[in-house]
Amino acid sequence: MESLSGMTTADTHCPYCALQCAMRLSAGDPVTVSGRDFVVNGGGLCQKGWTSAELLAHPDRLTAPLVRQAGVLRRATWDEALDRVVAGVRDVQRAHGRDAVAVFGGGGLTNEKAYALGRFARVALRTATIDYNGRFCMSSAAAAGNRAFGADRGLPFPVTDIRDAGAVLLVGANPAETMPPFLRHLPGERLITVDPRVTATARHGALHLQPTPGTDLALANGLLHLAITEGLVDEAYVAARTTGFDEVRRTVAQWWPARVERLTGVPIADLLATVHRLAAADTAMVLTARGAEQHATGTDTVTAFVNLALALGLPGRPGSGYGCLTGQGNGQGGREHGQKADQLPGYRRLDDPAARAHVAAVWGVDPDDLPGPGPSAYELLTAEKMRALLVFGSNPVVSAPRAAGVERRLAGLDLLVVTDFVLSETAALADVVLPAAQWAEEDGTMTNLEGRVIRRTRLRPPPPGVRTDLEILAALSGRLGAPVSARPREVFDELRRASAGGTADYAGITYERITAEGGVFWPCPAEDHPGTPRMFLERFATPDGRARFVAVDHRGPAEQPCADYPLYLTTGRVLTQYQSGAQTRRIAGLPGRAFVELHPDLAGRLGIADGDDVAVSTRRGSATAPARLSTAIRPDTVFMPFHWGGAARANTLTNPALDPVSRMPEFKVCAARVALA
Ligand code: SF4
Repeated sequence: MESLSGMTTADTHCPYCALQCAMRLSAGDPVTVSGRDFVVNGGGLCQKGWTSAELLAHPDRLTAPLVRQAGVLRRATWDEALDRVVAGVRDVQRAHGRDAVAVFGGGGLTNEKAYALGRFARVALRTATIDYNGRFCMSSAAAAGNRAFGADRGLPFPVTDIRDAGAVLLVGANPAETMPPFLRHLPGERLITVDPRVTATARHGALHLQPTPGTDLALANGLLHLAITEGLVDEAYVAARTTGFDEVRRTVAQWWPARVERLTGVPIADLLATVHRLAAADTAMVLTARGAEQHATGTDTVTAFVNLALALGLPGRPGSGYGCLTGQGNGQGGREHGQKADQLPGYRRLDDPAARAHVAAVWGVDPDDLPGPGPSAYELLTAEKMRALLVFGSNPVVSAPRAAGVERRLAGLDLLVVTDFVLSETAALADVVLPAAQWAEEDGTMTNLEGRVIRRTRLRPPPPGVRTDLEILAALSGRLGAPVSARPREVFDELRRASAGGTADYAGITYERITAEGGVFWPCPAEDHPGTPRMFLERFATPDGRARFVAVDHRGPAEQPCADYPLYLTTGRVLTQYQSGAQTRRIAGLPGRAFVELHPDLAGRLGIADGDDVAVSTRRGSATAPARLSTAIRPDTVFMPFHWGGAARANTLTNPALDPVSRMPEFKVCAARVALA
């Protein structure tokens, strides 16, 4: 129902993670949130979702643009702020070339915004320097999926297929904390988890493998070795639907069980139980997430688990498969529509002449004028040639690896522009801060972890002085001589045309269909096409229709423990916080503070008691937080959540060693030492 100032209720989805739980917002002071029945969440929400409306009227909310003057941010008019951005961009490009201006996006932006941002960079700025924080999230799984299946959709099947699977191998994911309603799809008695910590999800499952950090690839190759020697390979499937198994068979032959046990610490009996449970089930799933992916070997690690799934005949079989649990709210759609360094809308390659011609025609530009691929996220954020940066929907000062170096680099730019709705750690460094609308104040679409395109519906307009990201991009584009629409529906219709014929084809998806059908799965090439809940049933998206085995072998982490740094450090998430914490740390209903988790045996050796302030140090710096003693972690490993900035910033410590394919940094393992602070 609509009032003069907006709707009295709005059926929408959560502003946070990729599960995209359905919720109803009710106007009032405060706005109230209730869970809404939807297949992924069944009406349930986690603490983050329930409290998400608190930020709409938070005292930290920005309600006017800010510009830096004499070192201090002061309020400004929109005209002054936008003019300063455009003048700064022009100055930098005149002096240093187009690519000296960079754009950094986010996996929480709607499809419309992700699309508009890519177009803004390549048409209005004509810069090749654009990437986004999804590079830090699921890029290794995307790269592995593309090389095995010819397409990357996080889950190429609905979540309900997981609920019905006879066995699920879940690698490096803790949905009990990151997306609790997802557990309704993970029956514990059929769940096998892989994690160096005994997480809430591991406790929920029937079998937990607790490998040494950085050994997942060897673990996967060891599991495949056992599948072969135990006679569990689906030879008919391998022959009919795949290529390349012989070389993989040769590679994993060297990963005999005792060797795997010695390297990973996982008992042979558990390795055997895992492959037998997966092979014995009528339907089975192999799922990966950040724990497997955020490594300098992330693409190969995921590939090793894909190889295991292929050998067992799972991908493309109804009720079975391989999938990646995407993390950010629009981690899926955000990587499909052009804010990624190497891609154009529709998941097209930027270096493909046919793709360039198609998208250039939609944009009304010459294909030769489109820039080529640019640097990946970490390389972009630290590039010496970058002199100006425009950030949308991201807080890299907290979320990037070796964050102190990134912070220094951003502080030294000629121009830093940040669009956000609070003064995040990155915005606090900016020369210009543009206040953006929140999710309840705009329309748009998101694509959840299943590839299901859903509607985000506006409850009310933004507060006076605040604009939507699309309005900001349109205003900047107009000033730069490349006018575009700021209306979500018009942007989406253009996105549909730009994506038509691509891997992520949205041509047949309309706002009306999404509302009427409760979401539409891509690819959906025409309005009379039903969408594609399950991919690869007949053929994979490779030229010959077959999935590709790729032989990969274990390489250790970029850093191993040594005399100076004798421990492994791993990082991750906790129940009450989301990503860099810029939003959730401000919500009173989401308590929590940074901590360092370590085993009591290790703490005893170091004279550390529960609650003591401890300093964790790596070759990149130190971070300090209270100790939390727990037997859930291995005695050779410490864990820090990465949601906090300042002295407790875990990413001060992390290693920016990059995966050679996905350019994913190695967030999940580095060498560290711990001492009383
Ligand atoms: Fe929001 Fe994710 Fe929590 Fe659902 S699980 S309420 S989408 S944060």
